[in-house]
Amino acid sequence: MSSKHHITCVFEDGATSQFTSSSFETVYQAALRSGLTLETDCREGACGVCKAYLSDGDCDLGDFSDEALTEDEEEQGYVLSCQTRARSDLVLQFGYPMSLLNKEMVRIATRVAALEPVADNVVRLVLESDAEPLTFLPGQYVNLSVAGQVDGRSYSFANSPLRPGAMEFFVRLLDSGAMSDWLRDRATVGDEVHIEGPYGQFFLRAPRGGELLMVAGGTGLAPILSMLEKLRAVDAPPPVRVLYGANHPGELFGLERLRDYGDWVTVETAVVTGDEAWTGKVGFVTDLIAEQRLDDATLADAYLCGPPPMIDAARQALTGLGLSDSRIFAEKFLPSEK
Ligand SMILES: Cc1cc2nc3c(=O)[nH]c(=O)nc-3n(C[C@H](O)[C@H](O)[C@H](O)COP(=O)(O)OP(=O)(O)OC[C@H]3O[C@@H](n4cnc5c(N)ncnc54)[C@H](O)[C@@H]3O)c2cc1C
Repeated sequence: MSSKHHITCVFEDGATSQFTSSSFETVYQAALRSGLTLETDCREGACGVCKAYLSDGDCDLGDFSDEALTEDEEEQGYVLSCQTRARSDLVLQFGYPMSLLNKEMVRIATRVAALEPVADNVVRLVLESDAEPLTFLPGQYVNLSVAGQVDGRSYSFANSPLRPGAMEFFVRLLDSGAMSDWLRDRATVGDEVHIEGPYGQFFLRAPRGGELLMVAGGTGLAPILSMLEKLRAVDAPPPVRVLYGANHPGELFGLERLRDYGDWVTVETAVVTGDEAWTGKVGFVTDLIAEQRLDDATLADAYLCGPPPMIDAARQALTGLGLSDSRIFAEKFLPSEK
């Protein structure tokens, strides 16, 4: 027989939501039954979007990939709400405001307005639509589909929500992949692409008076550009350090755009393998973190985006610098599950 447990969800803005759950259903399903749609994407324990901190109670963690929830995170008390089943009353803390959940997820038809190479195996894709502009937070992503060819691949906005007319993405073309192959071999201006979203908890938080450290690997720069566009519009943007890495110099893109922001943005780059012309740092972008000297690490916020191993290494290096784990926001560019 299943007993009922009380689940309390506490959000970043202090708002709370309470509902009951049986031990047969996941926290996500129980929330849904009560009318609360928690942030999620894959619902299979693979993407990590539904991650929450369990501050009280006992639960069955369920099945999940160690990229969605690392061993360290599990030890610290994090759980995935799409997999977790309650064994007692639970208190879960979510790293986003409850107001985020009131945003409507939409599906709109768009068409390719521009498609151009910007670096080795990286293209800039611009989509436009006659539909109502999609509202999103800088840092969030959408799933793109092409009828009969590509099913739901995730890409982060590179433009700011303040420029909603044309939606911009930077896409890494894999040697072989449904979206990569379509963009490389078949896509042309005018083709229809469906967008579903926005999704994600990786978005720019209100600056707290300290510095912002943004660490990007490859096309992980895309959501960072969206955040910088948004920050540029405020009267006195906080100082931002962008640490940006790629496998080799030909993969770097957007450097001019980064320089154009002005003095409040400083940029440091690193490549894993240099070439004859490369005079910059050779190594992992995460090596740059330990070299940073921050005025007050307790006031600094960090935004990390790129491949999963980069995120895990960067998180460790940043906590070593004195940043609070709760002020490190990250998006792992995981492969699509479809
Ligand atoms: C929240 C989120 C936001 C993202 N935003 C972006 C973005 O802005 N720009 C961008 O370039 N990518 C982004 N990605 C990654 C992108 O969605 C995936 O790489 C996607 O699977 C690529 O689709 P595809 O059809 O080309 O390849 P698929 O058909 O999905 O995959 C082909 C093969 O490549 C492997 N593979 C796929 N992706 C990766 C990867 N990232 N690393 C290593 N192996 C992989 C697959 O396992 C498979 O074997 C994001 C991912 C997430 C989860």
